Amino acid sequence: MNEHFLLSNLIDLQEIDNEIYNIESQKGESENVVLLKELELQYKKANTELDESKNNLSEYFVQLEKDELDIKNIKQKIENIEAKLTDQSLDPNELINYSKQKESSEEQLSKISKNIEALQSENHEELNEIKKYEDTINEIKQKLIDVSKIVKEEWKDLDVNLAESESRKKEMLLTFPEEFQKLYDDLKNRGVQVIAAYKLEDNKCGCCGVELAQGEIDEISKSQYQQCPYCDGVVV
Ligand SMILES: [Zn+2]
Repeated sequence: MNEHFLLSNLIDLQEIDNEIYNIESQKGESENVVLLKELELQYKKANTELDESKNNLSEYFVQLEKDELDIKNIKQKIENIEAKLTDQSLDPNELINYSKQKESSEEQLSKISKNIEALQSENHEELNEIKKYEDTINEIKQKLIDVSKIVKEEWKDLDVNLAESESRKKEMLLTFPEEFQKLYDDLKNRGVQVIAAYKLEDNKCGCCGVELAQGEIDEISKSQYQQCPYCDGVVV
């Protein structure tokens, strides 16, 4: 009868499961993974605050955009006038006319620039706040990149171990008769924590730790898969 041998195989399988569980816990709980999650939250928060600050200044940004477009157009206009002024064949009237146009455009330009300066100084505090959020976001972004690299490096070894444990588990399960594969799956699916364990010296179930009466131990020995009546784990 090789049933006893197979039941102890369930314990070996449980040990591999424990390994897998431990590796997955390590992956999720390393200091750097915790830090990474914290940084992601900070990043989101800073972006939300930046958006809010920008929304509060939406009128300023609309005006700024308009002014910057005007500046661009006027500069273009001045360039065109300057090109015309180099023309040697201009008569004195044209010369005066273009020079006046240039002067007036330059006045416009200076007016708009002053406008922008005034707007900026008016919204000085809010703009500083936005700058602060942008700096913070850049700092967090850099940290996120650095910590991600470390986590990736950390997980490299763990993932190798994980794949190794999982392939050992698969191989072992393949050597199990179908009914024991099914037993294992059923117990896992029902959320049984410890699938199989040796009985402890003081007659405690090795899976759940409940102290078993002699009658219960006899019942377990007689049952098909030697399952504990309290936790359904297999007691070997
Ligand atoms: Zn038990």
